[in-house]
Amino acid sequence: MSKVLVVEDDPVVQAALVHALTDLGHVVQAVGTAVAALREAGTSELDLVILDLGLPDLDGVAALRMLRGVSNVPVIVATARGAEASVVSTLNAGADDYIVKPFSSEHLAARINALLRRTGGSAIPSEVVELGELRIDLAQRAATLGDSALALSRREFDLLAYLAQRPGRVISRRELIQAVWGNPYVGDDKTIDVHASWLRRKLGETAAHPRYLHTVRGVGFKLAAPE
Ligand code: CA
Repeated sequence: MSKVLVVEDDPVVQAALVHALTDLGHVVQAVGTAVAALREAGTSELDLVILDLGLPDLDGVAALRMLRGVSNVPVIVATARGAEASVVSTLNAGADDYIVKPFSSEHLAARINALLRRTGGSAIPSEVVELGELRIDLAQRAATLGDSALALSRREFDLLAYLAQRPGRVISRRELIQAVWGNPYVGDDKTIDVHASWLRRKLGETAAHPRYLHTVRGVGFKLAAPE
């Protein structure tokens, strides 16, 4: 069962999509504008977005770029027949797949299943990152330090995972805000610092005596295995 957001302004098509996706066992939400979609993608955990390219408020490519600014959720673009140019530009703008209208629910189901298989039911590739005694399972969203499981909040996990995938590299607060919060409007350095300090506590270390999570004054953070 996946959480799917349908972005479609045509009420008939929207209702048909919601019906078909619900039948397939997904939890479905539907909106009719790009702005509503962006709000939804920024606030809720989604497994998949089905995005109509012809929305009333924003052109499909712009909508997709903005969506990519707030989320890395898999996106299937739904487009009218013969719009190859827009398909190419939306794929370039970050769509994962596309489907040409009109399509059957079987066709849509096949595309969705293929995409969710590729993305492991979420936007995160199935991968394990190891750094010293720290082990981060990106697909399961689980982290352990030695033998103990770390009880991390969603943001703490995202922060840890992002840093762990770039070991030893100093990552700026700005980049972390973009990557973890995905929203330039919550761009407050304090937010990062607070989450980093919570994460640090859960890793059993302090800013004064870091083992894994290092603050680089005036720049950001880096995660590295203890020497
Ligand atoms: Ca439309």
